[in-house]
Amino acid sequence: MKAVYFFGAGKADGSAKMRALLGGKGANLAEMTRIGLPVPPGFTITTEVCTYYYANRKTYPKVLKRQVEKALARLEKMTGKKFGDLKNPLLVSVRSGARDSMPGMMDTILNLGLNDSTVETLAKRSGNPRFAWDSYRRFVQMYGDVVMGVQARGRDEHEPFDEVMSALKKEARAEKDTDLTATDLKELVKRYKQLIQKLTGDQFPQDPQKQLWGAIGAVFRSWGNDRAVVYRRKYQIPHEWGTAVSVQTMVFGNLGETSATGVAFTRDPATGRKEFYGEYLINAQGEDVVAGIRTPHPIADMTREMPKAHAELEKVRRRLEQHFKDMQDFEFTVEDGKLYMLQTRNGKRTGLAAVRISVEMVQEKLIDWKTAVLRVPADSLEHVLAPIFDQKDRQQAEQAGRLLCRGLAAGPGAASGKVVFNAEDAVALAHRGEKVLLVRVETTPEDLRGMIAAEGILTARGGVSSHAALVARQMGKVCVCGAQEIHVDYASRSMKVKGHTIKEGDSLSIDGTSGEVFLGQVKTAPSEVVQVLVAKSLDPKKSLIYRQFASLMKWADQARRLGIRTNADQPDQAANAIAFGAEGIGLCRTEHMFFEGNRIDAVREMIIAETPQARSAALAKLLPYQREDFAGIFREMKGLPVTIRTLDPPLHEFLPHEEEQIRDLAEKMGQPFEKVNARVAQLHEANPMLGHRGCRLGISYPEITEMQARAVFEAAAKVQKEGIQVRPEIMIPLVGFPKELQLQLEIVRRVAGEVQKASGRKIEYLVGTMIEIPRAALVAGEIAADAEFFSFGTNDLTQTVLGMSRDDSGSFLPAYLEQEIMKANPFASVDQTGVGKLMEWSIERGRKARPKLKVGICGEHGGDPSSVEFCHRIGLNYVSCSPFRVPIARLAAAQAALKSEVTQ
Ligand code: PEP
Ligand code: MG
Repeated sequence: MKAVYFFGAGKADGSAKMRALLGGKGANLAEMTRIGLPVPPGFTITTEVCTYYYANRKTYPKVLKRQVEKALARLEKMTGKKFGDLKNPLLVSVRSGARDSMPGMMDTILNLGLNDSTVETLAKRSGNPRFAWDSYRRFVQMYGDVVMGVQARGRDEHEPFDEVMSALKKEARAEKDTDLTATDLKELVKRYKQLIQKLTGDQFPQDPQKQLWGAIGAVFRSWGNDRAVVYRRKYQIPHEWGTAVSVQTMVFGNLGETSATGVAFTRDPATGRKEFYGEYLINAQGEDVVAGIRTPHPIADMTREMPKAHAELEKVRRRLEQHFKDMQDFEFTVEDGKLYMLQTRNGKRTGLAAVRISVEMVQEKLIDWKTAVLRVPADSLEHVLAPIFDQKDRQQAEQAGRLLCRGLAAGPGAASGKVVFNAEDAVALAHRGEKVLLVRVETTPEDLRGMIAAEGILTARGGVSSHAALVARQMGKVCVCGAQEIHVDYASRSMKVKGHTIKEGDSLSIDGTSGEVFLGQVKTAPSEVVQVLVAKSLDPKKSLIYRQFASLMKWADQARRLGIRTNADQPDQAANAIAFGAEGIGLCRTEHMFFEGNRIDAVREMIIAETPQARSAALAKLLPYQREDFAGIFREMKGLPVTIRTLDPPLHEFLPHEEEQIRDLAEKMGQPFEKVNARVAQLHEANPMLGHRGCRLGISYPEITEMQARAVFEAAAKVQKEGIQVRPEIMIPLVGFPKELQLQLEIVRRVAGEVQKASGRKIEYLVGTMIEIPRAALVAGEIAADAEFFSFGTNDLTQTVLGMSRDDSGSFLPAYLEQEIMKANPFASVDQTGVGKLMEWSIERGRKARPKLKVGICGEHGGDPSSVEFCHRIGLNYVSCSPFRVPIARLAAAQAALKSEVTQ
């Protein structure tokens, strides 16, 4: 077993391809060495040793000791230094490195090899005793903490080393660490060693060999500590991967004014701009840059302060990108004017930067367009589309303690405004030109107008497929939902959170990309892509990010095989979706139209009606409205398919529930209060989600389906006559039995025939069904005999397959995710092994019965990248999602296609 991989002097046993074995850090140190970058020599102990360690009661494979000794001897020879030598001591760093970086999992140990004797040598050789003693005290501290376990025990306890340091600083009247003299630091080392002895009963080891093995053991142990286990769980990193250990010759950034240490990115990770980005500190060691004790300088200052090192660094920067073909995030040290590379990895970036870097790297011929498409996380396009908080202002708000709480990030973007607690006030205040945020415990269709008027929506309850969330996404509204720490009191028009009381009219800011809620105003910056495509207020030529976004989308369309549709109920939403690249409407929820203008009166009249005749009379009033709605959509869609769903929600959703409002309604309708009240009570359901909704409405009240079908076909005939093509697809919701579908189809086909005859126009249309009840999935073969298409309603399918209410899962889902009963929220990302199985089954049976069966999805999952990939895999024809997620779905579909290309 080869357990140790050496790197140094231009040669390395390992390479970048060996991440699994050497960890990200070890693999890239080897690679940088190979390509001639200045890397201090060292060696990496493999992840296999870690796996062995855990499989064999925390022991090492026999070969390890010899191989480490050999590597160490080689290192000593190469550097001319020796472990524990009094003339020229070898000092090393010991660092962990998993396959994927796990920041904060394990502390680095620097300056290993120092002891009471070698510290004197270092002082003499460097001519800088302060540096030597500072290095030693850091080592004793890190070693005492990481290896020997000298740490704060309880939440309220201070770090023991910090206490010793503070006491000494007080005695020495030193304000900063850097005010301590060599003598002070010498005293500090003495006290640190006493502290270790006192707390552990053990001496701080003086033998470098012993130090080294202590440090190696600590790294392997750290793989099993709580912090690492929690991190792995969160990011789904398997325990079996293990960590590697890299041992590397020390170089010093704290040797004086000609030395420095820093971190840098080859491009700006926030904007993607091809600009050297990073910071450094003169006369400092690694952790000082990150720890924020001293303020680092921007890399640009290096041209003045260390011009030679800067020029070298620029060369390295170009070489890194040429070689790794991606933006790199790296660590470096300048020791007495000479540059050394300590680490490099692909840099994390914002969505904006991801797009810019990918597209520009294609232009620079560093990567091809397929790589560019694969490299932008589909979800990160949200950042490109959403107005965002001004980062500086947001940071200031957090520092000022104005971050109140977090909820679910439901509608991406940032919004600030005055708080209102009901839809009416939202409309009224917005009408006066104010920016408002609508805060509700949860929203219902009645809040729709308020939601439209508001800049953003904040709810205390409800999950990612709650009403607030799906409406917000559909409208592209900023939304944070399920912020459980908020207590809303409608009566006093106020809310309480973390000891703050926020009244109507007070300012609040919400970030629907992160779920954060801030007190007061935080400045926002609008997205240029939205300005070009939706508001059409920006000339595309003037927006670089728009042009780059457009390039990426063009490549995505070239690669993808899934069709992309949108969920839209109104012409303006449809127009937005088309601007974003939608190829049709996959779900038009007709109930939202019922709340428009004053047509709700006719809807209520229809519901209160006691006879089919009275109901038909009320429906006749609705018909022209619906016809105009559909005509508007058909005009906007210009011949693209439009899937229109017949009425779905239970009727009581259209009626008021408070006595006062019922009285108002009765009076308005000229009906006795008792009668209206009785009807409200009669419609009340214990389980409305499983109650009188979906096609069950059309079964009990066929005249509703009839009116809607008539509105669709009359609109189609009318728009066709205007010379515009139409392709209606009528969809029946909540079907479980073939007979339900048949009964509804009969109505639709009959009305279609009647309208075609009356208008003398032939209308091409389809009739299909949603698959959103397990029974429908189970008998999909029979259903496909009648249905011309399926559309998976994965919101309901998930809630019914899991037996979990989509509106109430917020109270227990967090615990389920925490304990890994599920990997992801099943209402956001398709539960592939459960719900997904039923989907596959339905497609297989459905296509057996009707080979050309068109299959889509219109649940919220249609805009979720991992669900889109799943839909690609199981052979759907299209996914449908809210307008603002259309670009995300396009990119995710392209990535799914490209990935399957690779695996085939
Ligand atoms: C669904 O259930 O997935 C669906 C799209 O319908 P709704 O969300 O309107 O119930
Ligand atoms: Mg549904």
